[in-house]
Amino acid sequence: MSSVTTFEINEPLDMHLHLRDGDMLKLVGPLTSNTFTGALIMPNLVPPVTTKEALLAYKDRINEACKGDTFEPYVTLFFQNNYSYEFLEDIKDDIIGIKLYPAGITTNSETGVSSMDVEVLRPTLESMSKLGIPLCVHGETNGFVMDREKEFMPIYESIASAFPDLKIIMEHITTADAVELLDKYDNLHATVTLHHLLITLDDVAGGMLQPHLFCKPIAKRPHDRSALLDAALKGHPKLMFGSDSAPHPKHKKECCGCAAGVFTSPIALQVLVELFEKYQALEKLNDFVSLNAQRIYDLKPKIKKIKLVKKDYVVPAIYEYNEDNVVPMYAGETLAWSIED
Ligand SMILES: [Zn+2]
Repeated sequence: MSSVTTFEINEPLDMHLHLRDGDMLKLVGPLTSNTFTGALIMPNLVPPVTTKEALLAYKDRINEACKGDTFEPYVTLFFQNNYSYEFLEDIKDDIIGIKLYPAGITTNSETGVSSMDVEVLRPTLESMSKLGIPLCVHGETNGFVMDREKEFMPIYESIASAFPDLKIIMEHITTADAVELLDKYDNLHATVTLHHLLITLDDVAGGMLQPHLFCKPIAKRPHDRSALLDAALKGHPKLMFGSDSAPHPKHKKECCGCAAGVFTSPIALQVLVELFEKYQALEKLNDFVSLNAQRIYDLKPKIKKIKLVKKDYVVPAIYEYNEDNVVPMYAGETLAWSIED
């Protein structure tokens, strides 16, 4: 087989992204919008995005940060139990979905839902189901950190069976159990990050602690990574790329009490091409990084063709941020693929 030296990704979509706000948004927004045609933006700001006013204002700030690029921010609302049907009907066309966080499970999720009981969630979920609004879920319990996602599986099952017409997205899945569950219910879908296709807990804490690889959900076991990678490489039709790229200033990562999140936006496409090439699966990459999401969310993204070439790319060691920096995954390392200008 002759070796591949160029590859084109059409309409790349990042279906789980944290752009933050303020100066951080101005820094990281363009690092996604210059290569992706669209991204699903998570609403865990302080305060969380729970009103139409806050949502539209945030969308405006994103568009401002990313102006000049062909890019569509698909914004989400922060799940609350008390959303009325009328409110959701009114906001439906402005959002791509609603993100449900169990309270306190990740960055800025303190005001999330404190009970995952279907009966408690029912009013909002029923309206969402009727209105065709997808539900995006951070699926972790507050149990032992390695088992949090596994323990959440019965909750996914109860929601999926109670609301068969509700489109549910298991966000950033990290376990073989979640991959298996994907095929059990028609209405279950999932995103997976780049870093969970690449690392296990060993890479985070097996040697010297690697704060820039520390994230929630935490990276799991080798067999979990294999199951995720297999599903991605075969272009599993219910699995979408969602980077969960989550920048923090360096002083919040390299400190006592490291914040969770891996910053992958600037390297995502280059590393995905390298990974899919390594496993001779390049023909499935467009499914994983665009076509599956278009079908699952019924999107018609703007045309954007990104050409990658097999040419060394040295990842910046830092991105300057105010008096501080943000450190990307593979900082200072050389990747095999570059994005052509
Ligand atoms: Zn996230």
